[in-house]
Amino acid sequence: MKLQVICENTSAVEGFKPAWGFACMIGEDILFDTGESDAVLFHNLEQAGVRLEDIKMVVVSHGDGDHTGGLMALVERNPSIKVVLHTVFPPDVIAHMRNCGANLTLAETFTELAPGIHVTGPYPTREQALVIRSKAGLVVVTGCAHPDIVEILRNIHDNMEGPIDLVFGGFHLLNQTKDETLKTIEAFRGFGVRRAGACHCTGPQAIQIFREQYGDDFLEVGAGTTIEIET
Ligand SMILES: [Zn+2]
Ligand SMILES: [Zn+2]
Repeated sequence: MKLQVICENTSAVEGFKPAWGFACMIGEDILFDTGESDAVLFHNLEQAGVRLEDIKMVVVSHGDGDHTGGLMALVERNPSIKVVLHTVFPPDVIAHMRNCGANLTLAETFTELAPGIHVTGPYPTREQALVIRSKAGLVVVTGCAHPDIVEILRNIHDNMEGPIDLVFGGFHLLNQTKDETLKTIEAFRGFGVRRAGACHCTGPQAIQIFREQYGDDFLEVGAGTTIEIET
């Protein structure tokens, strides 16, 4: 299965526009998060060769504008798309989706969206992550992961079987000291996380520490980055 980052603060591939936010294609027809604007989302989807009508489902991690920016326009352009939010999403976004007549699901807890593809639901952090079963282990995709990436991973570790092969996305460690980030990485190791792709709102200092600590197992992530996983 191919995962392709569509929106990220930086651009990793020529033609993809950088913009603060996050979005990632999961296989051929699932989009996780929608970046900060429909213009950047649609531009970068086109660069990736994804047609809007081919996206069957959009899953959104949380209600911040840098993850929901393209959602309304996407639903307008593709009204049959399945929208997966969660039960503690901002009520105005839920109301707007209902008013649009969107095909809406609100995840409350771990839910299998497609074979091997799960969403965690919003607990304990009010934000949901996506988890894919691959042959090498679980692959976790996060939006911002605030307030706490460690709690998100603990929840996955406690509720889903198998090692965690890869975690990538925003880890929201902007305000951490160096020692705090090293403790966070220790917690990652404690959950058996083999590879990490810290990006988006992780913060430059924390990204650099992850890069040093994970070495060859650190994944550089920007708009256009492609990750192949065996499912
Ligand atoms: Zn956020
Ligand atoms: Zn964010």
